[in-house]
Amino acid sequence: MTSAAINPRCQPDDPDAALRPRALDEFVGQAAARDNLRVFIDAARSRGEALDHVLFHGPPGLGKTTLAQIVARELGVGFRATSGPVIAKAGDLAALLTNLDPHDVLFIDEIHRLAPAVEEILYPAMEDRALDLMIGEGPSARSVRIDLPPFTLVGATTRAGLVTQPLRDRFGIPLRLIFYTVEELFRVVTRAAGLLGLALTDEGAREIAARSRGTPRIAGRLLRRVRDFAAGRTAPVDAAFADSALTRLEVDRLGLDAQDRRYLWMIADQYGGGPVGVETLAAGLSEARDTLEDVVEPYLIQTALIARTARGRMLGKAGWAHLGLKPPATLTP
Ligand code: ADP
Repeated sequence: MTSAAINPRCQPDDPDAALRPRALDEFVGQAAARDNLRVFIDAARSRGEALDHVLFHGPPGLGKTTLAQIVARELGVGFRATSGPVIAKAGDLAALLTNLDPHDVLFIDEIHRLAPAVEEILYPAMEDRALDLMIGEGPSARSVRIDLPPFTLVGATTRAGLVTQPLRDRFGIPLRLIFYTVEELFRVVTRAAGLLGLALTDEGAREIAARSRGTPRIAGRLLRRVRDFAAGRTAPVDAAFADSALTRLEVDRLGLDAQDRRYLWMIADQYGGGPVGVETLAAGLSEARDTLEDVVEPYLIQTALIARTARGRMLGKAGWAHLGLKPPATLTP
């Protein structure tokens, strides 16, 4: 199997690694998912069993990988990570599964992108802890069944709707992650500033939190850039300094970046506020449709800047206001 099939996310230069919380109690926000995990982890531990399979779904950067690592650490078991697109052949997955120690966590990021042939060998592995492998080809081909140790599959996906029904059905613990509140991100930023050794006032932390698009990964990234701008500065970073740094980074008051604004302008300018289909927008913006649906749109929908209707995307009242334009009189939302 290719070495790329293992741990593609845990590169030494992974800037996220240093900021990841390591225990469930350190993990900020996502109270519902956290509380459920706590119960199921404690139950599995006290019974001495492997935890049931877990599926995390939600937009990128909300903590799916981090939680998967925490699950393994809290269970006191090994952690292996891979991702859907890098498992090219059924044999790659078979090699991963047969190398697990009992009760290990196998994390598969972007699980909706598994090849169908690979996905099929996951079904009996998840359900019966068995691998059904075909040996040989043609008339002499035969199937052999290999028993696997008990293990926990933790899957992550940006969109649950793209995970096939048979795969989704095999996860006993599906958990949805939601965007963070400003208050939660304030705690994420304050904690990360401490780890990075950056002096930051509460107002400075709140300014960064409010402009992080509800997403801890973005909060961490903005904090690192603000730290760059603050190099050589002796006073702690306050709201005014954070504001000027974020403005230089083209992150606006709502936390939208240049790509978000191009998206909003395209609907306003070229389609009179919509409705317009996502394919049309993707072509006009030279972006992949998936990027719009997974990365750009969820936050714009959550903040009511746009609405997704049966006929396409529409700019909401808040979207018109954010662009400094007057909405058409007919607009209701
Ligand atoms: P995902 O897998 O959902 O894309 P990650 O787990 O890789 O997201 O998280 C991205 C970054 O955000 C990491 O640096 C992680 O430390 C940070 N992060 C995510 N969730 C939290 C949280 N609840 N508290 C603190 N930091 C978090």
